[in-house]
Amino acid sequence: MSGTTTVTAAHLYDLVSCPHRVMLDAFGDLTQRDEIGPFVRMLWERGSAYEASVIEKLAGIEPVLDLSTVPLGEREARTLDAMRNGVALIYQGRLRAGDLLGSPDLLRMEGAGYVPIDIKSGRGEEGGDEDSDPSPKEHYAVQLGLYVDALEQLGFSAGRRAYVWDILGNEVLYDFAVLYGTRNPRTLWSDYQDALSSARRILSRADITRPAYAASCKLCHWYSHCLDALQTADDLTLIPKLGRSLQTVMIDQIPTIADLASANPDAYITGTRTVFRGLGADRLRTFHERAKLIKSDNPQPRLLQPLQLPSRHLEIFFDIEADPMQDICYLHGFLERRGGDNASERFVPFFADDATREAEEQVFRDAWTYLRANSDAVIFYYSKYERTAYRKLQARYPGACTAEEVEALFARDRSVDLYFDVVEAATMWPTRDHSIKTLAKFLGFSWRDTDPSGAASIEWYQRWTEQRDPAIKSRILEYNEDDCRATRVLLDAVRRMAS
Ligand code: SF4
Repeated sequence: MSGTTTVTAAHLYDLVSCPHRVMLDAFGDLTQRDEIGPFVRMLWERGSAYEASVIEKLAGIEPVLDLSTVPLGEREARTLDAMRNGVALIYQGRLRAGDLLGSPDLLRMEGAGYVPIDIKSGRGEEGGDEDSDPSPKEHYAVQLGLYVDALEQLGFSAGRRAYVWDILGNEVLYDFAVLYGTRNPRTLWSDYQDALSSARRILSRADITRPAYAASCKLCHWYSHCLDALQTADDLTLIPKLGRSLQTVMIDQIPTIADLASANPDAYITGTRTVFRGLGADRLRTFHERAKLIKSDNPQPRLLQPLQLPSRHLEIFFDIEADPMQDICYLHGFLERRGGDNASERFVPFFADDATREAEEQVFRDAWTYLRANSDAVIFYYSKYERTAYRKLQARYPGACTAEEVEALFARDRSVDLYFDVVEAATMWPTRDHSIKTLAKFLGFSWRDTDPSGAASIEWYQRWTEQRDPAIKSRILEYNEDDCRATRVLLDAVRRMAS
């Protein structure tokens, strides 16, 4: 066991995705951590390589004081000296103020003070699809907030603002004073201060955190450890869509899934509300039903309402592979089935051999040629991701297809989103999430690969572009084909339930 009272920018970054990770990293048994997976390693390598290339370019344009090779013990003093001397750009400085410690990638002099800049090998903002404007990333904001705070305390701040230099070459402003949100307006500064006080409570052991199952767990080095603990505790977060914030408000009265299954939900309900903040009556009843299903003797998925699924001779199961950090869509996979006969299955992939705009456009065009030639098919896919990606690709390559064609492709009479329109809307599952991996595995399907995931596919694609090893390409294609087939397995199971 080890402890610390220093709060770093990395603590705050981790805290945004999981407070328990901050506690385990500080006080947990480090021998129980999982090995770091290849995808996370690739992210680290990508981050370092991108940062090095940006700094190399920058140094060719203007003077940069590089402190990256200065021993850590001397770096804080060297950073202070540089700021006192008005150095315009400082790379890998180190700021310590009170219990705060941070190393912004760059410190840039603006007016009489400094602003911090982090170089990120991803996008500087999130969201910004057809439904919403892009917004600052909270985990970036809290890191940058710590640097700004340290600069303020040291008397070197140019103001409450910071920047991210992102993979698209954008300089994204993080303004800590601007209000956002409509119902409860907040600032990034208040987000930072909340994260800071939460980290202080965890690191001083005033707060004891608990695990909570979430999508982010799958890439975390405490995954096996936490999953064991969650299963032993029969934790509420193993119910789909019941996350940490609801667990926190429910746990004193309903600690486990078994307790929820045996509870009378009406005892907690008045009208459309419940005694649990943030949880309405309908959702509590849904969680209660899910808990009962999970705890039943022979838990099986079931249909919640009548369902009409289109039936045509040709069915196409569709899945794309993309690397959102590089903003590239590298594979469009289509699995055909005719007459409902699995023996007729045929996989048709369109794979971009190069991670370039030209190759991306070519496979998008090829995919459209294929789709137009099979306009009599009904298409099944899993989640809005494919539709969002196709709208974006159409805007990027308007010569490949029209916006109207994309909308027609994803219209209800042509395609079915098995996630939103079927699994979420009309079924209940005794599983801990609704990912296609979890559901298809529950139904007995197995992927040929030992480590199937979208994250792994991205790492394989990166290696394919570097090494050109045909075995890696085959692995990507096989994985995508199995994803398409898993969608077919799910459809068949839902059809059996409906009949
Ligand atoms: S596995 Fe999940 S709950 Fe556990 S520390 Fe990691 S993110 Fe948190």
